[in-house]
Amino acid sequence: MSFNTLGLKAELLRAIETQGYTTPTPVQTQAIPAILKGGDILAGAQTGTGKTAAFTLPMLQRLSESGAETAAKRKRVVRALVLTPTRELAAQVAESTQNYGKHLALKSTVVFGGVNIKPQIDKLRQGVDIIVATPGRLLDHATQKTVDLSQVEILVLDEADRMLDMGFINDIKKILAKLPSTRQNLLFSATYSNEIKQLAQQLLNDPTLIEVARQNTATETVSQLVHPVDRARKRELLTHLIDRGEWKQVLVFTRTKHSANRLSKQLEQSGITAAAIHGNKSQAQRTKALKSFKTNDIRVLVATDIAARGLDIDQLPHVINFELPNVAEDYVHRIGRTGRAGNEGEAISLVCVDELKLLSGIERLINREIKKEIIEGFAPDPTIKAEAIPNGRNNAGGRKQQGRRPSNQARTQRSSAPQRKQPQRGRNSNRNKISHHSPSSQEAHMHQASDGMGLQVDLPSTTTEVNGNSIHYKPSKPKQARRQGQGRNKGSNKKPREVASLFGG
Ligand code: AMP
Repeated sequence: MSFNTLGLKAELLRAIETQGYTTPTPVQTQAIPAILKGGDILAGAQTGTGKTAAFTLPMLQRLSESGAETAAKRKRVVRALVLTPTRELAAQVAESTQNYGKHLALKSTVVFGGVNIKPQIDKLRQGVDIIVATPGRLLDHATQKTVDLSQVEILVLDEADRMLDMGFINDIKKILAKLPSTRQNLLFSATYSNEIKQLAQQLLNDPTLIEVARQNTATETVSQLVHPVDRARKRELLTHLIDRGEWKQVLVFTRTKHSANRLSKQLEQSGITAAAIHGNKSQAQRTKALKSFKTNDIRVLVATDIAARGLDIDQLPHVINFELPNVAEDYVHRIGRTGRAGNEGEAISLVCVDELKLLSGIERLINREIKKEIIEGFAPDPTIKAEAIPNGRNNAGGRKQQGRRPSNQARTQRSSAPQRKQPQRGRNSNRNKISHHSPSSQEAHMHQASDGMGLQVDLPSTTTEVNGNSIHYKPSKPKQARRQGQGRNKGSNKKPREVASLFGG
């Protein structure tokens, strides 16, 4: 399969060639022709699958075809809107839009919070065809009447599950109310929670369903390992692993902002350069930390789940779960930061006795047992009892709050540092390539995804054909049951006991 067969125009094919892509990824093969036809899309694809190009390329083509005359004759109007959960992802999608659209006469801009609004207003005033935005700042613009969304023809909700997780549903609804009722809607989500299904039902009109392997269902390129260790010795073990392996670029996940800050400080104190990235950091700090990490000026980036969304770091070799996430799906997102685009990667989880239920929930979700290996000198003390994990989903200070948009006041107090463009990813290099799945392996992955990853959809029909692949969707389990440690299915108590033996339980 080549890009030439997907119906894309020459200007876009030239841009794709410049990027060095030769073969469309499965989500691109399925989504591009369907979007070009003008219909709505419900796509189950997560970051790392090539989903950005899958919606950007046909969106650019449709806009360039329908609006060529209009743009020439009168002021540009916003005709496509891409909503993303995080600023980093917005910046990356905007960069892709510009790269892919560089031979077309379309203008795009990105708007997100945490930076001065004035340059954004100036850009919008000059007229753009495409806006890539985070919901909060876009609403600010809409309220100030610095943007007119009444002529949007294409709406993309990118990583819609994350937007809902981050509490953006009301902002999204307010934005939807400002759009014309007739438009093309493209909804991309890595998971299908009940909330996503509800949103899809309200938003989409007879959508084409697209499902591709989650990048990490395959995980052929990511080796996963658990090191059982005592709660109090995790930092020591992390330092040991970094030193022993002489790791130069490690992304470390913690559950909370506080933990991220503390760990980053402790690593610095032990001579390992590190920075923390989370929702309380200003945009300028986040951009600086990410840049230092990408350029190898710091060895460790300590991140919370929300902050890490949208990070696309080429050839990231090591991801460490310093603390397992409270939500099993986040494990899948986390380890997706490594082994990207066909590169080899290693995901290591440091698991203490408190986290056995979380581990079992993750193993149930990914439908496989993760190899356990005790590092010499770090064997868990069997007398240590499990403690409740603070900041869990059931806790008032939990994850939802972390992702929530700061108050207006907090936002205006934020840094007014100018928005910095993300460093250009290498063109014509092999760094960004995604390995192409043959149709048969693609089908196998789909099967695995529907069986093991909770990706079943019951909307709008039970079986669908996508490019000759018959995909059967079953109603997904209620959200409650999918949360690790709270699962009601029979196996839920088995795994902790097995793993508990590693802790002397
Ligand atoms: P995404 O899932 O959109 O975040 O893309 C993940 C990475 O894959 C990005 O670095 C893209 O530049 C790269 N990519 C997208 N499409 C292709 C393709 N067809 N061939 C090789 N690499 C690609």
